[in-house]
Amino acid sequence: MNNSQRIAGIGMTSQRTRERLIQRLQEQGIQHPAVLDALRQIPRHLFLDEAMAHRAYEDTALPIGYQQTLSQPYIVARMSELLLGDTQPAGYRAMKILEIGSGSGYQSAVLASMVGEVFALERIKPLLLAARKRMRQLKLRNVQMRHADGLEGWHAQAPFDGILIAAAPDRIPQTLLSQLVPGGRMVLPLGSRSQKLVVIEQGEQGFAQREIESVRFVPLLPGVSSGRGL
Ligand code: SAH
Repeated sequence: MNNSQRIAGIGMTSQRTRERLIQRLQEQGIQHPAVLDALRQIPRHLFLDEAMAHRAYEDTALPIGYQQTLSQPYIVARMSELLLGDTQPAGYRAMKILEIGSGSGYQSAVLASMVGEVFALERIKPLLLAARKRMRQLKLRNVQMRHADGLEGWHAQAPFDGILIAAAPDRIPQTLLSQLVPGGRMVLPLGSRSQKLVVIEQGEQGFAQREIESVRFVPLLPGVSSGRGL
């Protein structure tokens, strides 16, 4: 199978299976047309091992090794929607986003297809290397990925219009808030045993926090890992 056949998922998933996923997301309340389009376009099967790829268009989280998971499509869609907010296309196409915990790179790819630039940090090295390869394969040239502890953010590229965190911290990471532009937005799962998806917006009177719904994410861990022994 050549590269373009692999990207298209030929012989593996029908267009109907993918369209069913999009329908399901709409039934669950995802409305943003650009987000729905992004999930329609990005081939999720490429972000999984071959043994898992046939389940790529189910609306569930799936294992990617190293005790981590590829996020559920609904969550990827919801977080993307919250990050874009009511920004008009001309606005979000110019957005600069920081993503913490890029894992397989699926969320990074979804964002990259909508916004100007994505800067992604991942603490497990082999996941980072595999995700970077997928960005190249999909010709997503507006994503930069680094093996680093996301809690420190990315000073050299700050400030960001939005920050998306894909692993749950116990407390709001203040260093990251300081890397947002005025009016910027951070979307994250917050808490340990019980977690809420939270949006933090920087307004004129400081930061405002909004709880969206209950979620379950892997914990945000400090430091970096070579991936050996995991
Ligand atoms: N959206 C990703 C989900 C990845 S799971 C996907 O769809 O594939 C969360 C990821 O956060 C894991 O890969 C984990 O290694 C990473 N992570 C946890 N703590 C981190 C930290 N401090 N800095 C960077 N990445 C972190």
